[in-house]
Amino acid sequence: MTRFDDLADAVLAGGAAGADDALDVLRATDDELLPLVAAAARLRRKHFGNTVKVNYLVNLKSGLCPEDCHYCSQRLGSQADILKYTWLKADEAVEQATAGLRGGASRICMVSSGRGPTDRDVERVAGMVGALKSEHPDVEVCACLGLLKDGQAERLRAAGVDAYNHNINTAESHHDDIVTSHTYADRVDTVNRAKDAGLSPCSGLIAGLGESDEQLVEALVALRDLGSDSIPVNFLMPFDGTPLEGTWELTPGRCLRILAAARFVCPDKEIRIAGGREMHLRSLQGPALHVANSIFLGDYLTSEGQAAEADLELIRDNGFVVLGAEAADAGPDSPEDSDSHDPSKRRRGAGTDLPANA
Ligand code: SF4
Repeated sequence: MTRFDDLADAVLAGGAAGADDALDVLRATDDELLPLVAAAARLRRKHFGNTVKVNYLVNLKSGLCPEDCHYCSQRLGSQADILKYTWLKADEAVEQATAGLRGGASRICMVSSGRGPTDRDVERVAGMVGALKSEHPDVEVCACLGLLKDGQAERLRAAGVDAYNHNINTAESHHDDIVTSHTYADRVDTVNRAKDAGLSPCSGLIAGLGESDEQLVEALVALRDLGSDSIPVNFLMPFDGTPLEGTWELTPGRCLRILAAARFVCPDKEIRIAGGREMHLRSLQGPALHVANSIFLGDYLTSEGQAAEADLELIRDNGFVVLGAEAADAGPDSPEDSDSHDPSKRRRGAGTDLPANA
């Protein structure tokens, strides 16, 4: 038994992990990493079994945002070479969402850049959600449109939106170091508006923004107190052309510890490995899935993810099933299920004129 097992026992018995416990998790040694994952996995299994929730992002409007979030490739003045376009049409949005559903997603996240929607924007998104739900009645829709004003959350709820995402992103004590065009209180206000309107609140963070361990824990405790149902944990992808260009603070092990801290602080909430999964967790994506219970399929808002098939393989290889497809996908693939049985033949290195693969 490690102290992380003791902590898991205490949380499983109904206790809450405190800030000191979360700090201890963040500071686990490399030797303790696997026992930490095993302990956090007990909480994950209790609340989510062997399922992984698969989410799919549709960027409805990309770039050209007037806000100044330092981490964001879509911010005011960003020189990042990203796609920039205005609102997708409803049929384009439905087409994109349908691709995600075909890939196994059960939640579609409809996102737009900007400080917040106008009432006209809300109507536009309401129309898209109506069109999507008439074709796919079971789909869960999360909207992420920025800061909400009076009546907008209620309108989205009435249109069939299930959840609203607005990340707090970082600790209140660090917020003003990463954005000045709106406040931490603005962000919290929008999460509360969503909650009050009956939308499931989705709010998470970005790690690697120069925050301290204490600030990471502060953000996690704030998310618990805010009652966030789903918690996307992003790992900063420092785009060239943004103020955080060249900020590389994360290692795969650090990311794993952050996810474990999130699981201990919010044991029964959906912990989603979000942007930066492939870049920062690298070969530890598998162990991370034993702690988190949710991922995005395929691409992110302005960056490409690994192939959707690799995401599904990650889920199967680690013994999980896609939430909603449990019956059809009752366990890890057997070797016979693989499309390709024939090892790819070496044509480089020794015995050839080509350089070795090393
Ligand atoms: S995070 Fe949102 S509000 Fe901030 S710059 Fe990016 S798109 Fe704009």
